[in-house]
Amino acid sequence: MARRKLVAGNWKMNGDLAALAEIDAIAAAAVANPAVDVGIGVPATLIGPAHARAPRLAIGAEDVHAVDHGAFTGSISAPMVREAGASFAIVGHSERRAGCGETDADVKAKAEALLRHGLAAILCVGETSDQRNAGKAVATVTGQVRASMPWGAASGWLSVAYEPIWAIGSGHTPTLEQISAMHGAIRAMLTELLGADAASMRVLYGGSVTAENATELLGGPDVDGALVGGASLTAAKFVPIIEAAAALT
Ligand code: PEP
Repeated sequence: MARRKLVAGNWKMNGDLAALAEIDAIAAAAVANPAVDVGIGVPATLIGPAHARAPRLAIGAEDVHAVDHGAFTGSISAPMVREAGASFAIVGHSERRAGCGETDADVKAKAEALLRHGLAAILCVGETSDQRNAGKAVATVTGQVRASMPWGAASGWLSVAYEPIWAIGSGHTPTLEQISAMHGAIRAMLTELLGADAASMRVLYGGSVTAENATELLGGPDVDGALVGGASLTAAKFVPIIEAAAALT
């Protein structure tokens, strides 16, 4: 089945109101390349201003809490980010799994919160270099997919982002063969879990995607788009990735 490519940015803990000027050109590129879906995950403080500035661009949160409200100081929930203007959220990023101790069960609960509130999800999985060197990359990643897949994940509202931890922000990328093998394994796991519904689910690649390598990385079989960190911070670096994805459609 043909799946629309998705190019999503992740600003992480970067950006301020002045940086939202970048959103204008990114939103224009999204309009100019209608064959590709485009989104930007921004810090919670920027969701509202970014949405106000570019109402037709998909603005995302970088995390949500699994429950809707309560005594969780410092957290932000799915209905809160939706009210602020988000249409999707990233869950299970390796920086949260490692830095905040998030488990697969936590990630699953967060994705279920997104589903309850009509938000799309980008669910991240990925192995460490030690796990890859030990020959455990596929088992690790498919295990994460199995354990963090939310109940009701039966349509295109959820994308899986394969992000090898050693490739994030490092300038190193897996070989095309490694990406292809992993995306094939993820798709097989999705099919095992969801049957025919898995066919509409996108599997993105993330980790040091740039304008220079986007055509190669996004052109592989079973690569339905990209989750982009550093290169999403400026339109000058991000727009060529959107254009590369569009050229592949
Ligand atoms: C990320 O953190 O999701 C990511 C892919 O980062 P980078 O593109 O900078 O490697």
